[in-house]
Amino acid sequence: MERVGRRGLPAVDRLLRSEAGREAEARFGHAVARRLCREVIETHRQAVGAGEGIPSVAELEREVREATDRTGRSLFRSVLNATGVVLHTNLGRAPLSDEAAAAATRAATGYSNLEFDLETGRRGSRHRHGELLLQELTGAEAAMVVNNNAAAVLLVLSAVASGREVLLSRGEMVEIGGSFRIPDVMEQSGCRLREVGTTNRTRLADYERAIGLDTGAVLKVHQSNFRQIGFTESVESGRLAELAHGHGLPFIEDLGSGVLVETRELGLEHEPMIQEVLRAGADLVTASGDKLLGGPQAGLILGRRRWVDACRRHPLARAVRVDKMTLAALQATLLHYLRGEGDAVPIWRMLRQPLSDLRARAERLAARVAGALPPSASARAAEGRSPVGGGSLPGQELATAGLELRVPGELEDLARRLRWGEPSVVGRVEGDRLFLDLRTVRPEEDDLLLGALFRALDAGPGRHGEGQA
Ligand SMILES: *Cc1c(COP(=O)(O)O)cnc(C)c1O
Repeated sequence: MERVGRRGLPAVDRLLRSEAGREAEARFGHAVARRLCREVIETHRQAVGAGEGIPSVAELEREVREATDRTGRSLFRSVLNATGVVLHTNLGRAPLSDEAAAAATRAATGYSNLEFDLETGRRGSRHRHGELLLQELTGAEAAMVVNNNAAAVLLVLSAVASGREVLLSRGEMVEIGGSFRIPDVMEQSGCRLREVGTTNRTRLADYERAIGLDTGAVLKVHQSNFRQIGFTESVESGRLAELAHGHGLPFIEDLGSGVLVETRELGLEHEPMIQEVLRAGADLVTASGDKLLGGPQAGLILGRRRWVDACRRHPLARAVRVDKMTLAALQATLLHYLRGEGDAVPIWRMLRQPLSDLRARAERLAARVAGALPPSASARAAEGRSPVGGGSLPGQELATAGLELRVPGELEDLARRLRWGEPSVVGRVEGDRLFLDLRTVRPEEDDLLLGALFRALDAGPGRHGEGQA
């Protein structure tokens, strides 16, 4: 029994019962499938009203399938990162080690001592988890973990200097991205920003002059995502700590990327390490868990017990509290460092990969893809350069290797078909080449990448697939 709409279009329920409608329903449930069918019909209702012809049911089904695919892409899903950017903020920053992921799964699927003290059988505090390990790794007197570093900065400023002035160099009034601007965060935390020095040069004397009765803290913010070159000057952590302490003030440093190991070993510039800044005298250090630490999204607050306790007691602590899966994954990550298993942390394994290994993998992939190319296209192993990303080591790049594809006239198309594929692959379009950087693809994912590439090439024009994915 076929109901036909006013303008000759099938009713929504009819489309919903079609094969395409049932596929959508199997993936997303009745309500979403119905909505997709309704939207397809509604679009045509308007087009028909404007004088266009009535589409066939097959055409409507094709559109429902397209809408289903589009919806699938808009939902949260995994992607293969072939950009070479190890800490790609838009692709989820640091991937977890298998152990960290397993720990998060156990925390998620069962119960834990999240806020329960197994020694006494009484209530415990989630704000104590991670403390022991972080103390050992960094020399901090105390430590707590919150939702992310932005939350850490907000909590620290609120707990330490609310209602008072916080000194910050004009060269460090930074925007981290996603509208996280240090001056705005300060305002939110109830502090008053006291700008010190100039954009390019700030000296100790500038801070000294700015300290007054109303000063609550001295803040230093790492220039995570940009570099200043030329006529520049800033004040080292140690000297700022000394100055602050001389006036009975806490010195806070927002490091952004919380790194525990020396980045010079990668041939990159030095990135300040948490332990180093604490040793220099910082009373509180804030850092991200998912930048160069290589763990889950988290914010670390480390430093003097007095100030960390003030953070724990602050009402905002509840609002920015960390969840159990994160704590489990972070603990497993920290244990990798403590047990000397640095390469178990995926980002370090990726960053340390020898160029020769990457090149060998690229050559193997290039050889295998050669037979699947349309006549006008070419593929070869090639070298490139990739940034570390994630608001760390700005302007610095690592030599890398990957698969270079040239498909005249349809490079963007190929990039799109790869993005839209299963698995979704994100590469880099550089000039007239599509570069699939293997640094951020695990060797065991090479075949997965190749399969996705075959399908994307196969769906291109001149192939047996359709022109449009
Ligand atoms: C990345 C960064 C932040 C924000 O950290 P999230 O973990 O992304 O919230 C804050 N400050 C600095 C200096 C950063 O580099």
